Amino acid sequence: MALEQFDVLIMGAGLSGIGAGHHLQQLCPNKTYTILEQRDRIGGTWDLFRYPGIRSDSDMLTMGYSFRPWTSPKAISPGEDIREYITAAARDEGIDRHIRFGHRVVRASWSSQDAMWTVEAVRKTPDGCEEPVTLRANFLFSCAGYYRYSAGYLPDFPNIGRFQGRVVHPQAWPENLDYAGKRVVVIGSGATAVTLIPAMAKTAAHVTMLQRSPTYIVSMPEQDAIANRLRRVLPAMWAYRLARWKNIGFMTYIYQLARLRPKYVTKGLLKLVQEALGPDYDVATHFTPRYNPWEQRLCLVPDGDLFQAIKSGRASVATGQIETFTEKGIRLASGEELEADLIVTATGLVLEAFGGAEIQVDGRRVDFANTLAYKGVMVSGVPNCASVFGYINASWTLKADLICTYICRLLNLMDRKGVRQVTPIPRGETAVAPFVEHFSSGYVQRSLESWPKQGAKAPWRVYQNYFRDTFTLKWAPVNNRALEFSNPRLSSTPAARAWEDARQSVAGK
Ligand SMILES: Cc1cc2nc3c(=O)[nH]c(=O)nc-3n(C[C@H](O)[C@H](O)[C@H](O)COP(=O)(O)OP(=O)(O)OC[C@H]3O[C@@H](n4cnc5c(N)ncnc54)[C@H](O)[C@@H]3O)c2cc1C
Repeated sequence: MALEQFDVLIMGAGLSGIGAGHHLQQLCPNKTYTILEQRDRIGGTWDLFRYPGIRSDSDMLTMGYSFRPWTSPKAISPGEDIREYITAAARDEGIDRHIRFGHRVVRASWSSQDAMWTVEAVRKTPDGCEEPVTLRANFLFSCAGYYRYSAGYLPDFPNIGRFQGRVVHPQAWPENLDYAGKRVVVIGSGATAVTLIPAMAKTAAHVTMLQRSPTYIVSMPEQDAIANRLRRVLPAMWAYRLARWKNIGFMTYIYQLARLRPKYVTKGLLKLVQEALGPDYDVATHFTPRYNPWEQRLCLVPDGDLFQAIKSGRASVATGQIETFTEKGIRLASGEELEADLIVTATGLVLEAFGGAEIQVDGRRVDFANTLAYKGVMVSGVPNCASVFGYINASWTLKADLICTYICRLLNLMDRKGVRQVTPIPRGETAVAPFVEHFSSGYVQRSLESWPKQGAKAPWRVYQNYFRDTFTLKWAPVNNRALEFSNPRLSSTPAARAWEDARQSVAGK
């Protein structure tokens, strides 16, 4: 039976996948595409995570799409509003009609003979069984995020089984978990922990944040007063663009300042924490990290909600090494005992590329550890394939938007050249750096080994700089000597001919 074929197959209907659908519809209107989404709803991260208080930790004026204004007064937004924003974008542009829900991609195999991907997925049937589905596409665009969906990261805690209370991971938050009046310990000090703690402290008996070492935490107004004022006097899109550029400029300035003058920025950040918690609080122990600002993501807390929870006595911080779980809670190496009814392991994510799918080129499995990243978008030796990995020092969507625009320009160039295959070829360039540099977060460090590497110079570098990427991905010529454009030598299989005929008839309409 002939397999269904598309010009582009997008994996994932999260922020990036819906963005990819928009850009394809706008910039490549003749291309056919489908989106395979393993879940039953749009939204990705913003559908998966359901823990109390779930919200963005960067401002929505830069995390929103370039093409759709964020109009809520809350710049630090609840997760549900972000999911609704993505869903509305998909609905308003008819992108949702292209999504096949309940389809998990497990393997994609490129054939140079056909210039085609064969994509194998498993589909959930209404009775809960799984059945295989196979599709074909000329271009594979992974918008499958960057972490494993099936389970978060859980370190090997000693004697975790001894604990008599409940242990919960934020990535799998049980519906209707009742923690009112209970003693809660949250292990971790990242974005998830600092979101959870003030939210849970509203009804829990007490919440303790247990951290091995501190993180930089900075308070930011939940509402962006300038953006809200602009929205009152300007059309929504103008106000959004102005506020967005203001925030991009500010973030870039702070990041560059942190890299150039880390001591100065550290002093400023810690001073703000001390002011928020009062002169007697031990900021040196609990809020002074061992690394420089922006070697890990800064944690934002809206209107200082974490600090208020600590000041009110409903939450507290313990800094130390876990020696063992006990029946009643956790004992630290210092001997301190933390009693709990509920322990939340906010211990992070497991990084995963291509949604865990196996990628093959001409029958050989691709080992991404041996590839080089091309502009941070494609990888060496893998034809017609791209993926979205956003910024670590700014909002994800800024880069996702640029990558989508770039892929559309690349597809249009291929059409103009009359070719069906494009492959990044290093031509002597070798790996000199990991995919993400100068970033010490555990979840990144744990997996970098297996990710594509960076070469010494562009286009084999991955920049964390929106201005530079805007030029290279949006404005600079797509043609590059590192890209090899070609056609299959034997474009004569029945499937390839059928696809070419179908494509030409669409283009001719
Ligand atoms: C708790 C949390 C908070 C965050 N807060 C921010 C923030 O404030 N600002 C920011 O910039 N970034 C933030 N991030 C990063 C965040 O993931 C991105 O902002 C953004 O949501 C990524 O969108 P995405 O579409 O690329 O990936 P995702 O949101 O992860 O969506 C990927 C989609 O692909 C699907 N998928 C995965 N594998 C497969 C497969 N094999 N087959 C089919 N479908 C598949 C998934 O089901 C999902 O729907 C946060 C991340 C987390 C976990």
